[in-house]
Amino acid sequence: TSEEMYCIGCGAELQTEDKTKPGFIQNSTLKKYMESDDDSKELLCKRCFRLRNYNEITDVNVDDDEFLKLLDSIAQKDGLIVNVIDIFDYEGSVIPGLQRFVGDKDILVVGNKVDLLPKSVNQNRLLNWLQQKSKENGIKSIDQIMVSAEKGINVDKLMMMIDKYRKGKDVYVVGTTNTGKSTLINRIIAQSSDVKNLITTSRFPGTTLDRIDIPLDDGHNLVDTPGIIHKYQLAHVLNDQDLKTITPKKPLRPSTFQLRDGQSIFVSGLARFDFLDEKTNVVFYVNQNLLLHRTKTVNAEEFYEKHVGKDLTPPTDIEDFPELKKHEFTAHEKSDIVVYGLGWVTIPAHSKVQVYVPDGVSVSIRDAII
Ligand code: GDP
Repeated sequence: TSEEMYCIGCGAELQTEDKTKPGFIQNSTLKKYMESDDDSKELLCKRCFRLRNYNEITDVNVDDDEFLKLLDSIAQKDGLIVNVIDIFDYEGSVIPGLQRFVGDKDILVVGNKVDLLPKSVNQNRLLNWLQQKSKENGIKSIDQIMVSAEKGINVDKLMMMIDKYRKGKDVYVVGTTNTGKSTLINRIIAQSSDVKNLITTSRFPGTTLDRIDIPLDDGHNLVDTPGIIHKYQLAHVLNDQDLKTITPKKPLRPSTFQLRDGQSIFVSGLARFDFLDEKTNVVFYVNQNLLLHRTKTVNAEEFYEKHVGKDLTPPTDIEDFPELKKHEFTAHEKSDIVVYGLGWVTIPAHSKVQVYVPDGVSVSIRDAII
């Protein structure tokens, strides 16, 4: 046909030739649509259709090269960059070199999923932490804000900020996959007009394929860009089911442990913490469905070998699951040891801990946020 058609979910050009490429639609589906005279019917590519109706993903790859090309194309234009970060998975959602790629454009950093934090979190400390993290990663953020795209927390405030900082120019929303970028843009759309669910959202990485322009009221656009997939996200060592299991859906609740010398805690089969002090009190903040198991450190390794994938799940699938790798931390102040994508444990000042996480997964220390 001479007329190009686009998927209303992801914006990809529809095609009937290649199942593995964006925009695939079955010939018969397309035909049915063409023959139907119901104008309200939405045309979705197979992938978006399945996502929307069955909550099921098909794999898609947005590789580094493509992403760099995209950043490069943005660098040529004038506008505000809105960088969406998953505050639960900072290392997995930061884009290394972002500032360098987009030049001297202003970057507004949005920490999403604030709804998952316990109420007692000190919001100022969290904003300071986000600012500090941006700095460490070379991002000279013009401002930062915590939001919940899903619950609509602070979205109004964010929209006001965007309007202030864009100075009448376009807005480019960038982020790695799974940070909630699509959910956030849907929320913005819902709050600014009646165009809903223009973008496909999913629990899994890699769903927004092509850039999608959302018109702002002055002729400029809010542009959604494809996400880049980071290899070191916990999401990449787990299968879809396990990813669902570990992702918190409600505010985290603290689990406190009083530990004696030589004790370790397993967070299911995903992480192991050896506490090196004689006596210590620690508080875990992870999805409450996850098993927290205490053992003697001397037995921990054997215990893990024996039970991982059985009593210690996730991971349910241990075949491709990486070995645990050791990291050591000393807290000068009361601190959080953060396993990105999983949660954190708060340890007291002057304590020492050895952390084991799957090889390739990031773990770091920060001043306690509670
Ligand atoms: P994208 O890949 O960056 O476009 O991310 P999506 O919008 O598809 O969201 C990824 C996952 O994060 C989905 O499971 C969403 O339900 C979830 N999510 C998005 N925003 C929030 C939020 O504010 N809070 C929580 N708890 N989950 C969120």
